[in-house]
Amino acid sequence: MTERWLGDMDPQTFRRWGHRLVDWMAGYLAAVEKYPVLSPVTPGGVRRQCDPAAPERPEDFDAIFADFESVVLPGITHWNHPSFFAYLPSTGSAPGILGEFLIAGLNVNGMLWRTAPAATELEEVVLDWLRQMLGLPEAFWGVLQDTASVASLCAIAAARDGVAGLQVGESGLAGRPLIPRLRLYTSQEAHSSIDKAGRILGLGQSNVRRIATDADYRMDPAALERAIQEDLRAGMRPFCVVATAGTTSTTSVDPLDEIATISARHGLWLHVDAAYAGAAALLPEKRHLFGGWERADSIVVNPHKWLFTPIDCSALLTRRPEALRAALGVLPEYLRTEEGDRASVHNLMDYGVALGRRFRALKLWIVLRYFGREGIAERIQEHIRLAQLFASGVDADPDFERMAPVPFSTVCFRYRPGDMAERLRGAKPEEASRIEGFLDDFNESLLNRLNACGKLFLSHTRLNGRYTLRFAVGNIRTTESHVRAAWHEIRTMAAELDEELRVGDLMF
Ligand SMILES: *Cc1c(COP(=O)(O)O)cnc(C)c1O
Repeated sequence: MTERWLGDMDPQTFRRWGHRLVDWMAGYLAAVEKYPVLSPVTPGGVRRQCDPAAPERPEDFDAIFADFESVVLPGITHWNHPSFFAYLPSTGSAPGILGEFLIAGLNVNGMLWRTAPAATELEEVVLDWLRQMLGLPEAFWGVLQDTASVASLCAIAAARDGVAGLQVGESGLAGRPLIPRLRLYTSQEAHSSIDKAGRILGLGQSNVRRIATDADYRMDPAALERAIQEDLRAGMRPFCVVATAGTTSTTSVDPLDEIATISARHGLWLHVDAAYAGAAALLPEKRHLFGGWERADSIVVNPHKWLFTPIDCSALLTRRPEALRAALGVLPEYLRTEEGDRASVHNLMDYGVALGRRFRALKLWIVLRYFGREGIAERIQEHIRLAQLFASGVDADPDFERMAPVPFSTVCFRYRPGDMAERLRGAKPEEASRIEGFLDDFNESLLNRLNACGKLFLSHTRLNGRYTLRFAVGNIRTTESHVRAAWHEIRTMAAELDEELRVGDLMF
């Protein structure tokens, strides 16, 4: 009687499939443009093709891979597609994919130094490289998180637990009548993850006070100062400011230096959310936009946004690692180690939410070495150039309007034909709002039609209430011809839609 094999896939099969998958991925990346960028599936389309019953018997990898191609792939929106211009792009580069491959192969959990010394030490080395590349002082120490949302959550947790005299980490906020309301300040344009952190950390979303922005969507420092004063008078306890360097809608940069001065004056923790735009600090010509961030207590930059590292990989840099650890380091007996007790190493589980940690530093180590600072800077520069090119097309076309400045690689714009611009100028409020309503609907239809064609993918936002299209460049495979083709497609479709929609519309 032969004994039943209860181990892993045999090494030959693994080797064969490993080679096949690498071949498949190389072919996929080379021919990614043959796929529609935005997945055409309708809701439930993938699920309907999956067996609702859990697999009982073993299956061959052949069968599983065949379903990957026929069921999963059609349900993919291709972030790797060079005409993915939606949101803020995030591309995995080939060296990054190889890094992920090694990470999966090793499958270490870097929770403690001893559970994978290289995972901890490489992380410290790589984040110090990143710090240097971004031009930040040596006082900043870095730790990787999965996402910027979690990095900001951790930073705000450190700020909250550091509020003198409250011991929030130990005693909590609930059921303590003498605890003042803790207040956090961030701009109206800040990312939703800051509200979420407010909810999770027991501050309450209403205590995440949104500060007004100026005409260019940057936090108004005078309004920040007034809000803090007002809250202090009302007996509340300001504790943290979250400034944004590269907002999600328009990529505007808050006046960091002025905000740092206000934060310092009131003794508030300053966290800078630079998830996307932080990468641009690699460029000497863009550094000035970040002036003042070196005074922050913590900064988040996502290598998975604009540093060609596959998702997920988010860098939290802080001058106050001890505060982060005070908030997040909880040590049960079973995780005690000699080297940890002697404080001769960092156990990185003490600086984040999760205990278990992937070896993310490995892919970042590979990506930074493979391209070098120079290679990364050149690519980011090129993306900025391509976005400027697109913006100049918008500016030169009387039927389009640019909706915000373009400090980096994202352009906010909308269709607004010349004759309507003319009408808007002289319009009474009621007519103006009818025209604006028409333009909102028009741009929404235009976006839907563009995305349905499969050749490109854009997303939208609202600026001052107006429906706005966003064109974001950041994909390592995007070239000038993709940008030109996209602009051509946008103009052509806008003209077609304009003809259709105005038929029978007496107003216009
Ligand atoms: C993308 C982005 C985030 C969220 O990043 P995740 O890593 O997906 O959590 C937060 N803030 C800003 C400014 C962003 O651009």
